[in-house]
Amino acid sequence: MKIKRKQDIRLKAKINIRFIVLTMFAIVITTFLSTIVFYELFKTEIMRDLQTYTHVLKSTGVFEYTDDLSKVNLEKGDLRVTLVSEQGNVLYDNMASASTMTNHIDRPEIEDAFTKGEGQAVRLSATLNRSTFYYAVLLDDGHVLRVSKESDSVWSVLFSGIPYMLAIMAVLLVLTVIITHYLTRSIVKPIEQMANNMNQVDDLEAYKEIRPFIDTINQQHENILQNAQMRQEFTANVSHELKTPLTSISGYSELIENGMAGDEDVRRFAAEIHRNSNRLLTLINDIIRLSELDVVEDSTVMEKVDLYGTARITADMLAVNAKKHGVTLSIEGEPAYIQANRIMMEEIVYNLTDNAIRYNNQGGKVNISVYNNEEQVILSVKDTGIGIPVEHQERIFQRFYRVDKSRSKLTGGTGLGLAIVKHIAAKHDAEIGIVSEPGKGTEITVTFDSYELHKKKSLAEV
Ligand code: ADP
Repeated sequence: MKIKRKQDIRLKAKINIRFIVLTMFAIVITTFLSTIVFYELFKTEIMRDLQTYTHVLKSTGVFEYTDDLSKVNLEKGDLRVTLVSEQGNVLYDNMASASTMTNHIDRPEIEDAFTKGEGQAVRLSATLNRSTFYYAVLLDDGHVLRVSKESDSVWSVLFSGIPYMLAIMAVLLVLTVIITHYLTRSIVKPIEQMANNMNQVDDLEAYKEIRPFIDTINQQHENILQNAQMRQEFTANVSHELKTPLTSISGYSELIENGMAGDEDVRRFAAEIHRNSNRLLTLINDIIRLSELDVVEDSTVMEKVDLYGTARITADMLAVNAKKHGVTLSIEGEPAYIQANRIMMEEIVYNLTDNAIRYNNQGGKVNISVYNNEEQVILSVKDTGIGIPVEHQERIFQRFYRVDKSRSKLTGGTGLGLAIVKHIAAKHDAEIGIVSEPGKGTEITVTFDSYELHKKKSLAEV
């Protein structure tokens, strides 16, 4: 629980920080760019004003063809007016004494005015905080008249904007923190809800991207529940199955212990105890086998196996058993190779054939066959026995399911044989088929991929 909370906080904090950084970045960039744009507009405006002043001044004719500039008396103000001769000497300046001023011929706006008729320039002051705007025009008498004006530089505008920018940033920061807090909460909420209500994930509104995740979890959830239920049923069944023979054993031995059995009885009771203990042993063996097959971690040794050869060996093992039941056991087929676990193949053939013998009639037949067709190997165990009603055919592969319990027990059945067969078939990707008719007999087939097909498939996978 603790770890989960910690990660929650991390995700939210991450989103928050990113939002805030993004906002701050946007503010700085916007301030910077808009200052530049506004300053450009401001510059054009100042230049346009200067241009107008200069032309107005020119049109007054005060500065043209006159030798006596001492009469010109312009007020000192925002605007500075300078008259420059062809040689660059300053003839007049309303702010300073013309004679003390340096030669102006190399000033770009003056140069331009001489060559093109007019010129303009903006120069930063040494401290960078002021800019001077110049506009110059050529007069008819060959002199250049220049008007200039000082103003804040782009840097000082930007600089003076910093306190405002910081104030806006602070306000926006607070706003962003509040907004992102709610935003992240609403983003994370469905995920949190999901995590807290694993059982009703389906009813919750969630992101499309998370759907597959939910589906997988749901599936796993269902599987876990199903498994738990199956395990519980299995345990109950096992206990029940073990109880019956143990009760018999306990009962008979108690009778012998109390001396309540005569010599004849003792033999009979001992035989019963023996039979029931054997039954217990087979049961326990089957249960152990099933739990071995249940192990998810698969270390089954798979090799190239001739299923026909395996079936022959198994059939030989069951010959005596068949004879005892008055059943004729035959086998036919041809060498047929599959990728399989040899012992498991013996188990499949054994369990199927054993059933075919046990659920048969006196004088009945059992035929095992193994054939290849193009890509498959088909094992078939066919009997002329009692058959299985259609409604039971699917369920006989479940653990402890029997059509006729007493017949199964009488012949030493545990109700687990076909469950083991099904398990092994699944491990080998084999398919089970059943055709059966009560009173006529049963044929169970198991279809495997041939060794060649298996090889082709595993090559394709690589
Ligand atoms: P069991 O140990 O009881 O034979 P299995 O799992 O091998 O358990 O089989 C389950 C049930 O399926 C049997 O109890 C029996 O009713 C039925 N069954 C299996 N094989 C045959 C068959 N060849 N003919 C008729 N019934 C069969």
